[in-house]
Amino acid sequence: MRTSIFLFLLFLPGLLAAQRTILHCGKLIDVNKGVVLTEQSIIIEGNKISDMQAGYISAGSSDKLIDLKRATVMPGLIDCHVHMEHETNPNRYLEAFTQNPADYAFQSVVFSNRTLMAGFTSVRDLGGSGVNIALRNAINKKLIVGPRVFTAGKSIATTGGHADPTNGYRKDLQGDPGPAAGVANGADECRKAVRQRYKDGSDLIKITASGGVLSVAKSGENPQFTEDEVKAIVETAKDYGFRVAAHCHGAEAMKRAVRAGVNSIEHGTFMDDEVIALMKQHGTYFVPTIIAGKSVADSAKKPGYYPELVTPKALAIGPKIQSTFAKAYKEGVKIAFGTDAGVYAHGRNWMEFVYMTEVGMPVIKAIQAATVSAADLIGVTDQLGSIEKGKLADIIAVDGDPVKDVKVMEKVIFVMKDGTVYKK
Ligand SMILES: [Zn+2]
Repeated sequence: MRTSIFLFLLFLPGLLAAQRTILHCGKLIDVNKGVVLTEQSIIIEGNKISDMQAGYISAGSSDKLIDLKRATVMPGLIDCHVHMEHETNPNRYLEAFTQNPADYAFQSVVFSNRTLMAGFTSVRDLGGSGVNIALRNAINKKLIVGPRVFTAGKSIATTGGHADPTNGYRKDLQGDPGPAAGVANGADECRKAVRQRYKDGSDLIKITASGGVLSVAKSGENPQFTEDEVKAIVETAKDYGFRVAAHCHGAEAMKRAVRAGVNSIEHGTFMDDEVIALMKQHGTYFVPTIIAGKSVADSAKKPGYYPELVTPKALAIGPKIQSTFAKAYKEGVKIAFGTDAGVYAHGRNWMEFVYMTEVGMPVIKAIQAATVSAADLIGVTDQLGSIEKGKLADIIAVDGDPVKDVKVMEKVIFVMKDGTVYKK
C-alpha cells in the first residue's frame, strides 16, 4: 500500500505535466505586433500558455488536440465597461422598487454566461448594487460560468448626481444615502466612499464625474464633482491599489477628472480639443461605449420607454459618441474597448467592433483595444491581454477572418478561460 502511494507521488509531476492542450490555429492574431500569423500551435498546461510554435506540432497520446485550422484565434476579449447585474428594459425605473438583490443576482448569472460565450473572457463591471462583487466571487469559485470580473462594486456619485441611487424618487424615499451607498460630498466623504469600496471588496473605483443619460435628472453633462473631490478620490484609491474610471459626458467634468489623475474617461461625448490634449498629456484612456449611445438613442424613439427627463438626453448624447470616438482615435488618444453592456443587451458586445471600424479604426487596432490595451488599463498585462508563453490561457477563436469582415466577431466558436474550454 505504502509503496503504491510512494510510486504515485513519484510519478505525479510527470502525470500532471503530460496533460497538455494543443491548439492548431489557422490564423493567430499577435496583438503585440498587430499582425496576423498563419499555421501556429499554442500549448496550454494547467491554466497557462506554456509554449507557442510555428506550424502544426503533433500531439502526444495524452495531449488534447483542438483543431482551429479554419478559424482566427486571438486573446480572450476584454470589455472595460459593463454592468453585469442589469439589462435594459422599459420597466427599469420600476425595478428599483420591485427587484430584490437575489433577483439581480440570478439574472446576472445569465448575463455572465452570455458574455463569456460571446468571447469576452474578462470584464470591468463599472457599477451595480454590490451584487457584482458576489458575482465575481462565484465565478472565481467556479460555482457559475462567466468572465473574469474586475468590479467597481457601487459607483461613487455626489448628491443628486448620476448614480445617486435615490435620484428621481419622491422626497420621503430619497433620504441621504451617504458614502457607504456611494454618495459623497466634500473631500472627506470622498475618501470615506473609496475606503468603503475597499471594505466591500471592489477591485477598482468608478465615479460619475458628470451627469448621465439614464439618471432621472436634468443635465447629462454638468460637472458633478469639484476637482478637489476627484483628487481626494484618486489619492485615496492609490493607497488601496485601485484605479479610477470616470463616467463623463461634459468637457468641464473631463478636464477636472483628467487633471486629478483618473485612469480612464468613459463615454467622453463632448470631448473638446483641450480635453484631448490633456488626455494625451496624462496618458488617460478613453473607453468610448459607442453601442450604448446608439442603443439609448434608439430606445428613446419608442414612446414611454424612458422618463420625460431622460428622453431628450438620450437623443442628444447617444448618437454623438461615435464621432467623438473617431476624432479621439485620429488625434492619438489611447483607446480601450468598452461597451456599457446592460444599457443594451448583454452578448452583443461585438457590435462595438463594427462601430469602431465604421469610422476609421482598422480591425486589428480595435482588437488591440479589446485585448492588450484593455489589459493595460486594468493593470493586468503581466497575466492577460495577449497570447504569450507564461500568460493565463484566455483564448478565443472566430469562424472566419475579422480583417476581411469585422462581423465575424459575432461568430465566436471557441472560448477558453483560465485553461478551461467553455465553448467548442
Ligand atoms: Zn455604464
